[in-house]
Amino acid sequence: TISNRLKRIASYLPKKPHFADIGSDHAYLPCYVCLHDDAAKAIAGEVVEGPFHSAKATVKANHLEAVVDVRLGDGLAVLHKGEVNQVVIAGMGGSLIKSILENGMDKLEKVERIIAQPNVDAKAVRKWLYHHGYEIIQEEIVEENEHFYEIIVADKMNTIQNLTEKDFMFGPILLVNKSKPFYNKWRSEKEKLHYIRKQLDQASVPQIEKLRRFDNEVTWIEEVLRDEK
Ligand code: SAM
Repeated sequence: TISNRLKRIASYLPKKPHFADIGSDHAYLPCYVCLHDDAAKAIAGEVVEGPFHSAKATVKANHLEAVVDVRLGDGLAVLHKGEVNQVVIAGMGGSLIKSILENGMDKLEKVERIIAQPNVDAKAVRKWLYHHGYEIIQEEIVEENEHFYEIIVADKMNTIQNLTEKDFMFGPILLVNKSKPFYNKWRSEKEKLHYIRKQLDQASVPQIEKLRRFDNEVTWIEEVLRDEK
C-alpha cells in the first residue's frame, strides 16, 4: 500500500489518464493508478539505475508490463512528443522540478495537466508554471511524518492567471482555502526563519540584504497566520 501523499497526488489525475511519472523511484504511483483504472496508461521515468530497476520490479510484480512502461533517462527526455497528456513530478526540490520542465519544454505540447509535488521551494515551480501557460487550478498540503508536502495541479490555459509574489510563495489556492496543515507548515517555517535570522544577526560580516529579505518573508508569514482560529 502506498503513502497518503502519493494517493492524494493520484487523485488529481483524470479518469483514463495517459501520463508520465518522472522520477518515479519504485513506480508506486503509476502502478497504483493503473491497478485502479483499467484504461490508465503510464510511463515511469528514472534517471538513476537503482530506482529504474526497482521500478521494473514493481511493475513486474503487479503484472502491469502492458500498461506501465519503465524508461531510463533524464527528465522528460524519456518521452516522445505528444505521448502523454499528464505529467507528474513529485518528491524532489522545486528547483529540480523547474529545470526538468524547462529542459523538456518541447515534450509538453500535448500535456494538459502538470501535477508537481515539490518538497521545498514550491515558489520556483509556481513561477515556472505561471510563465509557461499553465494555470494553477488545485493545491493541497499533505502533512505526513512531520513533513509538509505541497501538491500543485496546473492545467494548460489560454487565459493568464493574475498572481502576486505572495501567491508564488504561499500558493494562490492554498491562500484562499487555508487548511490546518497550511497553518502548521507556516508556523513551522516561521520558527525556522527566526532561528536562521538569529544566526545572521550574529554573523561577523553584516548581512543587511539577506536580513531584509528575511524580515519581509516573516512579515508575510505573520500576516497569513493572523487569522488562524
Ligand atoms: N516520485 C516518487 C515519489 O514522489 O515518491 C519518488 C521521489 S524520489 C525522492 C526522487 C526520484 O527522482 C529519485 O528516484 C531520483 O533518482 C529521481 N530523479 C532525480 N532527478 C531526475 C531526473 N532529472 N530525471 C528523472 N528522475 C530523476
